[in-house]
Amino acid sequence: MPDLHTHIQTIKGIGETRAKALSKLGITTLGELITYFPRAYDDRREFQQIGNLTVGEMAVVHGVVAAEPRHQLVRRGLDIVKLQAVDETGKLNITFFNQSFRKQQMKQGAGYVFYGKVDGTLLAPAMTNPIVEEDAVAGRLTGRIVPIYRLTQGLSQIILGNAMAEGLVACGELFPDPLPESVRLAHELSSARFAYHNIHFPEDEESLELARKRLIFEELFLLTTALHFLRDRRRETDGIPVPLVDLAPFIDALPFTLTGAQQRAIHDTLADMTGPRPMSRLVQGDVGSGKTMVAAAAAWAVHQAGYQTAFMAPTEILAEQHHQTLSTLLEPLGIRVGLLTGSLRAKAKREMGDLIETGYYHLIVGTHALISQGVRFRNLGLVVTDEQHRFGVDQRSALQEKGDHPHVLVMSATPIPRTLALIVYGDLDVSVIDELPPGRQAIETYAVDEGYRQRIYTFTRKLLDEGRQAYFVCPAIESDPDDTSGGMKAVEVYAKDLQENVFPDRKVAFLHGKLKPKDKEKIMTTFAAGETDILVSTTVIEVGVDVPNAALMVVENAEHFGLSQLHQLRGRVGRGQHQSYCVLFSSHQAESVQTRLNVMCKTSDGFKIAEEDLALRGPGDFFGSRQHGLPDMGLANFSCNMDLLKQAQEAALALLKQDPLLEHLDHQALRTHIQKIFDISAERFH
Ligand code: ADP
Ligand code: MG
Repeated sequence: MPDLHTHIQTIKGIGETRAKALSKLGITTLGELITYFPRAYDDRREFQQIGNLTVGEMAVVHGVVAAEPRHQLVRRGLDIVKLQAVDETGKLNITFFNQSFRKQQMKQGAGYVFYGKVDGTLLAPAMTNPIVEEDAVAGRLTGRIVPIYRLTQGLSQIILGNAMAEGLVACGELFPDPLPESVRLAHELSSARFAYHNIHFPEDEESLELARKRLIFEELFLLTTALHFLRDRRRETDGIPVPLVDLAPFIDALPFTLTGAQQRAIHDTLADMTGPRPMSRLVQGDVGSGKTMVAAAAAWAVHQAGYQTAFMAPTEILAEQHHQTLSTLLEPLGIRVGLLTGSLRAKAKREMGDLIETGYYHLIVGTHALISQGVRFRNLGLVVTDEQHRFGVDQRSALQEKGDHPHVLVMSATPIPRTLALIVYGDLDVSVIDELPPGRQAIETYAVDEGYRQRIYTFTRKLLDEGRQAYFVCPAIESDPDDTSGGMKAVEVYAKDLQENVFPDRKVAFLHGKLKPKDKEKIMTTFAAGETDILVSTTVIEVGVDVPNAALMVVENAEHFGLSQLHQLRGRVGRGQHQSYCVLFSSHQAESVQTRLNVMCKTSDGFKIAEEDLALRGPGDFFGSRQHGLPDMGLANFSCNMDLLKQAQEAALALLKQDPLLEHLDHQALRTHIQKIFDISAERFH
């Protein structure tokens, strides 16, 4: 009897080769197979008569093979089988390339269903390599709503579809059902069995909708339950004691006065750490709101108590900037600040490792390198994750596990609408920095089309003459050879164009993720030092980079970016005392694009922008765009509505209130599932 962990190779029709291809999609077990959901559906229910076919359209037709199929070997490696299918309204010429088996398989006088694109002419319609089903077995690939899956090499829709059908049969009654019966009934959700069958092979639209509703609800419900459960468990362990310290020496060392919002966030943080439990706090604040200082204050306090801090940033550039800022600020206060990134040579890395393990460094700034196996801390008291949406929950907890329940501080510049925050940040307490340091001017933002290009270049020149610098952001690194419109700007080519044809007397540099870390660093340092005037880049500069002299952000093909991303990009300028500008180029006339870009022109409040994004694009985008660091959401990625989200959330919280430890017999399946979501070690899970 199979179970959900059964290897897929035991399923009928899946041999070694197919199992290998499937594993590339992350499918190795029966459970993984049936939770691999279609990305779309093809409605092949409506049959057409041959006499009514339209050239160029997809069609399903039923026909009888009129004569023996003819086989023809054109040359080595190319053979053709031709046949004619007829119904009472006409004839359809069918050609198969390199499917010589059709000659034997398809019999004169037998009926088949064909699905394919109609070519040929109005009077002599034809199909090439259509999907074929013999009458006797028709109904899997035609005559119904057919699932379309994301594929990989070695798989076709037919192979994967057949594997799925066999998988569903193999499951019998064994469908994963973490939803407690009471929740399922209260929210009128279909059974797991119904949901899995109909998400893959829907009976009709209504059944698909019911299946989808059930599975999305399940995802959101599990996530909320998991995050809240995790947070409650964390609160059961002892925290590292950080006595309340006098912050005065730290505050006196700052080159500016903290804003009220910064003070509040620091206060929240220190209060958490003096408490008996490990802190789990998120500091959410717009770009430039000064979140780094909250981390610095926390690291300072933790150091006073004799513990180390690890500070993880998503990119090398950002880690280096933080290292720079924090060492300048904290070294004079006796805190040794180290930097650990992946690009260190093996020897340097080993030395760094020793200095971390012996406790020489008090604060270690780094990239993912911090969570690599060899890194050991002497006594880790606090872990800080900057720009948390760039990390998965698992990476965050990997860093945490370098210590014994250290305090956790995560920082995010991605404002999440309040309605979503509860789900996305369910395991964290939240401090909001809703105030920018004084003297910041609003960034003037304009959405323009190609007609403005010369004017914008002239304006750029004027700013450069005043001594400012500019960013030009493009969506692509290389030009796409398939893009014949020449519309999409690519970093290297565009940088060359700007340098040679527009600003020959200025220094233009470019930056993208494919450059070597050393080169990236050099380009960024040179720009930060004011030695280059224009930096053409992909969104690698999106996160946290700080160049106060940069006063212009030009975004090319702005329609390619989400509102929140545009907001992040805009946050790269206006970081000094200079009036700054943001120009969004887009020749996209679609109203939806224009509406979105106009939101950027009207407001600079990240929370408001996020709310608008939510209203315009729905919550699915927030799950899909990896702004959260949550585990991959399956269905909620592309279809989910606010109402369902709220229902799932409320149901999860109500359930935890009633059974906080999920001990009830009816909640065992749920418990097992949420343990799996984050791969929570049994020990931490109790
Ligand atoms: P965030 O990480 O929230 O985007 P940063 O911490 O990088 O923002 O701070 C942005 C800039 O503002 C930095 O140059 C920092 O030195 C400066 N800054 C931070 N707090 C203040 C403050 N209270 N007054 C003036 N400048 C500040
Ligand atoms: Mg930052």
